[in-house]
Amino acid sequence: MQPDPVPPQTLLIDADDTLWENNIYFERAISSFIAYLDHHRHAPAEVRCVLNECEHATIAAHGYGMASFERSLIDCFTKLSQAPPTEEQCRRIAGFAQSIAEQAIELLPGVAETLPLLAKRHRLILVTKGNAREQQKKLDRSGIHMHFMAVEIPPEKHPDAYREILSRYALTPAATWMIGNSPRSDINPALAAGLHAVYVHYPNTWVLEHDDLVQPVAPQQLIRLDSFAALATHF
Ligand SMILES: [Mg+2]
Repeated sequence: MQPDPVPPQTLLIDADDTLWENNIYFERAISSFIAYLDHHRHAPAEVRCVLNECEHATIAAHGYGMASFERSLIDCFTKLSQAPPTEEQCRRIAGFAQSIAEQAIELLPGVAETLPLLAKRHRLILVTKGNAREQQKKLDRSGIHMHFMAVEIPPEKHPDAYREILSRYALTPAATWMIGNSPRSDINPALAAGLHAVYVHYPNTWVLEHDDLVQPVAPQQLIRLDSFAALATHF
């Protein structure tokens, strides 16, 4: 016997590393940056640690996006070599960041098949944080924009950002779900704002997005899935 279908819900869906690859490009750019530095003086783990600190500080001051990432690489270089980079070195560092912006959008497995099924029964809103222009451009290039009735690009996904979205679209928290790969940005703040959540595991989630998943109190629900395609069996 088929289980009763879920009544129509509003599904807020994250984009980077939920719908399409993102963090792997940053990891590749960071590997190139580390290889460019003097290996005899700086172990890769040490560089990574300094870069994480630089990214924390840059994002807090300037938000997400490619300009911030480039700035973090330059700050990291300056800290490690105890001198700012020369013009030529700046150009090389900018090239590592630029390589990410030039990537084609690669949808994650199951996304292209599953999104239309979800969109047929539910209301889908894309909720991705970051630089609004860069994120909108990625969506435009992705070929999946038609499945979303709206797009929200807050600078950061904290509980108030989710509360604002609830109020803007007059959503009932009990019939609204946040779906994404990041415990820190998608799951925990959405649960704090009273939504249900679906954690879709992604193996290469950025270290700055890691956190322990909060356990909601019933009737609030948290579903854990291994793939985007598995959403079709729940919704
Ligand atoms: Mg994500």
